[in-house]
Amino acid sequence: MVPPISITRRNAAVLCSEWADGFLACILLSALREACPCAYCTGEQIMGQSVFVGIKTYAPGMNELVSLTTIGNYGVQATWGDGHDTGIYTWDMLRKIFDENALSQADLRSIDSELEPK
Ligand SMILES: [Zn+2]
Repeated sequence: MVPPISITRRNAAVLCSEWADGFLACILLSALREACPCAYCTGEQIMGQSVFVGIKTYAPGMNELVSLTTIGNYGVQATWGDGHDTGIYTWDMLRKIFDENALSQADLRSIDSELEPK
């Protein structure tokens, strides 16, 4: 999988990406955080057994994306508002997350109107 052409913040809650094959999708940042692939979030392997650590508690800022940093040519590392930065998403993972969590135009409109000051 090649990197997306662009990854852009639509607003405080939504991230959009565009890919060379014409795929274009926007997702909630919380969906990206939810899919964090790091050992902590997915449950660590201890003595060959998978121990699920992830009873996910809400931490302030956990769904606020501070930065996305490109790692080599294979993916991006996300840094979140609660300081969590161990998740590295390969392009394949990222594409899959956007594919599975893509917001509809109606969803996007309602999120936009919620976030806009009235
Ligand atoms: Zn994680």
